[in-house]
Amino acid sequence: MYDSYRDHLAIQLEEIREAGLYKNERVIVSPQGAEITLNTGQKVLNFCANNYLGLSANKKLVEAAKEALDTHGYGMSSVRFICGTGDLHKNLEKKIAEFFGTEDTILYAACFDANGGVFEPLLTSDDAIISDSLNHASIIDGVRLCKANRYRYENADMEDLEAQLQQAQENRFRLIVTDGVFSMDGNVAPLDKIFELANKYNAMVMVDESHSAGVVGETGRGVTELYSLRGKIEIITGTLGKSFGGAIGGFTTGKKEIIEMLRQRSRPYLFSNSIPPLVAAAGIKMLEMMTETNELQDKLHHNTKYFIDRMLKAGFDIKPTRSAICAVMLYDAKLSQEMAARLLKEGIYVTGFYYPVVPKGQARIRVQLSAAHETEHLDRAIAAFTKVGKELDVLK
Ligand SMILES: *Cc1c(COP(=O)(O)O)cnc(C)c1O
Repeated sequence: MYDSYRDHLAIQLEEIREAGLYKNERVIVSPQGAEITLNTGQKVLNFCANNYLGLSANKKLVEAAKEALDTHGYGMSSVRFICGTGDLHKNLEKKIAEFFGTEDTILYAACFDANGGVFEPLLTSDDAIISDSLNHASIIDGVRLCKANRYRYENADMEDLEAQLQQAQENRFRLIVTDGVFSMDGNVAPLDKIFELANKYNAMVMVDESHSAGVVGETGRGVTELYSLRGKIEIITGTLGKSFGGAIGGFTTGKKEIIEMLRQRSRPYLFSNSIPPLVAAAGIKMLEMMTETNELQDKLHHNTKYFIDRMLKAGFDIKPTRSAICAVMLYDAKLSQEMAARLLKEGIYVTGFYYPVVPKGQARIRVQLSAAHETEHLDRAIAAFTKVGKELDVLK
């Protein structure tokens, strides 16, 4: 059988290549940071990591992880409910709840699992999920695994959300679900308005803070901080894999009865291994650091503003953003790839995105700012963008 199956795959892979959608992976041989070394020997400034607070190679986190290796060993070799629960896991769950102002937290191996395992245990075919059209793939997959009725509204479109809520009134329970920050534009979900509509139409709210935790809000508590809704949202999901140190791990945090039910019924929690103690220990340390000082959050906010102000002044077309994501609009797929390639030659590592990752005719380069960037790094990036922008005639 495999002979014919291999041919079948070869044809599909060729189609992916021909469509220009084949993903090649660059190999990094240094720790993740503002400056990284590729296996070609080239050193580049990194503007495409989710390393928003610059913690991926933070010395204190590395120390905390090393210490946990000595005190708690390497792996747990079990799921949480059999013998995979350690003191560090419990402590991290408590710290995450404190950070978000919620009642309790449940850890997962990734936020992909948190989202994959949140809907099915909580809702049935009597209920409704009302989901933003640009929600993350893991939310879409989680919704697919659940029998609840599905309603979709256009990205951040509150008129459409209201219409969907009206449609969904005959259901028993309603849950509105949204990303906190949408990763392609960097726009923040209008959680204030979503919350109002949820009250008006008797619905609950879930927000995925993966790109917003550590970033959005004065102290980085996410969109619930930005809109003064701490403690009011039923469900928050998030990742330890972005601003929170960037290793691995996800969580759902919120109302305690919801978390209690997830511990009983959520399949990625019940049937998948516990995160390693060293990751939990570094996570605890990270949250302690973020509570002690706002230095990194402040630096990130400063860097983002600095970069965007100067890019606008240079004549680039940039989507309005309230996160650390800056979408430099080019509209043309080929141009986005050409621009990213030229920037890499200039030592600036960014990624160009085009259809189907973003809508047709909306190609762009996504720049992700970080507290790891120094002003000199930002200036180098702006200079390279301006030089290449002039060459390719994309400046206004
Ligand atoms: C990155 C991301 C995830 C996945 O997080 P992992 O912990 O890497 O699985 C889920 N949701 C959103 C919105 C994300 O941006």
